[in-house]
Amino acid sequence: MAHQEVYNWQLGRNMMYPYKEKHPKWQFAFVFNTNRCIACQTCTMACKSTWTFSKGQEFMWWNRVETMPYGGYPQSWDKKILHILDKENPGRQRWAVATTKTEKAPYGVFDGMTIFEAAIHAGTGQNALGYVPTDKEWRAPNFYEDTATGYPVSAPDTQNEGSVLPHHKTWFFYLARLCNHCTYPGCLGACPRKAIYKREEDGIVLIDQSRCRGYRKCVEQCPYKLPMFRGTTRVSEKCIACYPRIEGKDPVSKYRGTESLRDAKFDMTTPSQGDPMETRCMAVCVGQIRMQGLVQVNEDGTWVEDRNNPLYYLIKVAKVALPLYSTFGTEPNGYYIPPRHVPKAYLRQMFGPGADAAVETFMVPDRELLAVMNLFRKHQSIIFKYKIEKGPKVFENADFHGKKFELYNDTVIAFNKEGKELFRTTVEEPTYIRRGDIHYNSI
Ligand code: SF4
Ligand code: SF4
Repeated sequence: MAHQEVYNWQLGRNMMYPYKEKHPKWQFAFVFNTNRCIACQTCTMACKSTWTFSKGQEFMWWNRVETMPYGGYPQSWDKKILHILDKENPGRQRWAVATTKTEKAPYGVFDGMTIFEAAIHAGTGQNALGYVPTDKEWRAPNFYEDTATGYPVSAPDTQNEGSVLPHHKTWFFYLARLCNHCTYPGCLGACPRKAIYKREEDGIVLIDQSRCRGYRKCVEQCPYKLPMFRGTTRVSEKCIACYPRIEGKDPVSKYRGTESLRDAKFDMTTPSQGDPMETRCMAVCVGQIRMQGLVQVNEDGTWVEDRNNPLYYLIKVAKVALPLYSTFGTEPNGYYIPPRHVPKAYLRQMFGPGADAAVETFMVPDRELLAVMNLFRKHQSIIFKYKIEKGPKVFENADFHGKKFELYNDTVIAFNKEGKELFRTTVEEPTYIRRGDIHYNSI
């Protein structure tokens, strides 16, 4: 298939892709705050118990939380693809130095080769460069769990050296992952059966099970290794972004977010009446690291300016959330607030040249960012807009990581697609007194 020229805003330039440029009206996207993930795997189990609990799906973890830098599922997926790309373009997988950052190139310009360009360069006839993981690499979902780089020095005067901010000398962090529902999916580009498609209404990428013949080209050419082959059906499967929930067709309790759970357990079947809901993995997140939503896309692939959509604000305005390995070239729609304690060189490789500024912004958040961070995980409905009502200053520090920090107890209000208020919350954590007469475990 002849590759075509398409625009990839995350790379700040045109690149080659097996299909003509075409964009959905809305795009499924998410922001994860890696600084808050505790690897409880509640998200992983919520996904498994919803979609992959059947025979033949035993090793399928559409949502996974990995211990980085050593881990990954399949084992070492990112190291392997980085190595393959570097072999094709030795020492030149770099961002252009001193490029001016513009609206169309917010992180600068990537000078190296994407998986699609590297495939053309390699001349193998593949649409994207990749590899098929071995069975051994799929054998466990969180390799090297909690394994850190190096060990703290034990001499008395350097005892704490391993855990001093801003950078830990000894470090690891948790990377929660699912399908990025990419703008230029490697899986879709790879499929010789044209069994993979991207939905116009929300940009969700799906595998048509009736067209798939199990050639595993998607397994090979998704750089994030999200599609998986199912031995019992002989076809491939992948994360479906809980699309019935995004469409607002999932049965949920009419009491969600409003009444006590004691009442709700008797009625869990009222449909959400068209209100788009976050996916299962997002909605259960214990660490409150996740926010998922939909962003509006222009015909040319740029995002419609939507200043008060929380995802638009975090990604395009505050630039505190960055795409995961944008250099692969698929324009992933999963964005991450990088871990603040990890060496910058590693973060730049994983999240691109915006990593330093993103960490700095997160370390000393301004008034708006603090308010928006409080929207995470307060409701299951997708937040389309937020509004901030100003409150009093409750704290200040003249030298907080080298900057002035002020804390205002503002109220942030979230709205659904129809503009209906979902909830409001304050920057200072609200306190609730539990009613002793209705909670059995109250003392
Ligand atoms: S539920 Fe949230 S905190 Fe727990 S592992 Fe998943 S992403 Fe991390
Ligand atoms: S993350 Fe992989 S499976 Fe998901 S859309 Fe992108 S290329 Fe396809």
